[in-house]
Amino acid sequence: MQTINQLDSLRRNIRALRQAKRRIALVPTMGALHDGHMTLVHAAQAHADAVVVSIFVNPTQFGPNEDLDAYPRTMARDTEMLRAAGVDILWAPDADAVYPAGFATKVHVDGPSRGYCGGDRPGHFDGVALVVAKLFNQVQPDVALFGEKDFQQLAVIRQMARDLDFALDILGVPIVRDADGLALSSRNAYLTADERVAALALPQALGRAADKIRAGTDVGHTLAQAIKDVLAAGFARVDYFTLADAVTLEELHAFDGRPTRLLAAAKIGKTRLIDNLAV
Ligand code: AMP
Repeated sequence: MQTINQLDSLRRNIRALRQAKRRIALVPTMGALHDGHMTLVHAAQAHADAVVVSIFVNPTQFGPNEDLDAYPRTMARDTEMLRAAGVDILWAPDADAVYPAGFATKVHVDGPSRGYCGGDRPGHFDGVALVVAKLFNQVQPDVALFGEKDFQQLAVIRQMARDLDFALDILGVPIVRDADGLALSSRNAYLTADERVAALALPQALGRAADKIRAGTDVGHTLAQAIKDVLAAGFARVDYFTLADAVTLEELHAFDGRPTRLLAAAKIGKTRLIDNLAV
């Protein structure tokens, strides 16, 4: 595996892969890798001949009071995990290389970025869209893989790729969970032992709500009960717990048989967790 920090070197390597007619996959990450990320890597290997993983803690997707400085950084360990997995290129640019002095461009994707995390974290999806658009241009992959864990992010990126004619396939990968059901996240590292136990209430509430909605229970009543359960388990706040159209993310107040998704975000201690489940 080659670890590359400079864009000119990345471009040389990508050109060589293209000349060798290798199909290239990109897996964008912010590092602090866990089995969720590695599942994306394995899926990438199944869909391409050469896999590029990027690690970049993207400052433009963090709000002023969010955890940019505290975000876990484990580059040595991440590098070893990717090398052992047989990744071809680790693209780990410096922030100055991504956003040099004088950088002035913004990318705003409307539609699926509205509401949910887009409402709670103003500017977050602009930062995501900007860095992903740059990564697509830098790596020029044939396919890019994203986790369904960040379901709204996946919808925003699909919309952007369609709208801006990025010539690549976007693949969504199902959520990888711990044995007890908590979705793997780099932010789980912030949880105390007690919070880690209580955090399970979020996936459990999603599972119960999905069962009830499928069985025909009133959606509003089901969601209100789910929020109560999550708060009773020790969460400090529920930002949203909503039934949405799985494609447009439009909020739904009734289950009409189309593909739908329960989307949730809630704060426990100082940590904001997100999760989602197909209904
Ligand atoms: P992050 O490093 O948190 O920005 O995540 C990088 C990519 O890994 C994103 O596409 C995430 O959706 C994906 N990802 C993170 N956690 C999981 C998980 N538990 N299961 C599947 N994909 C995940």
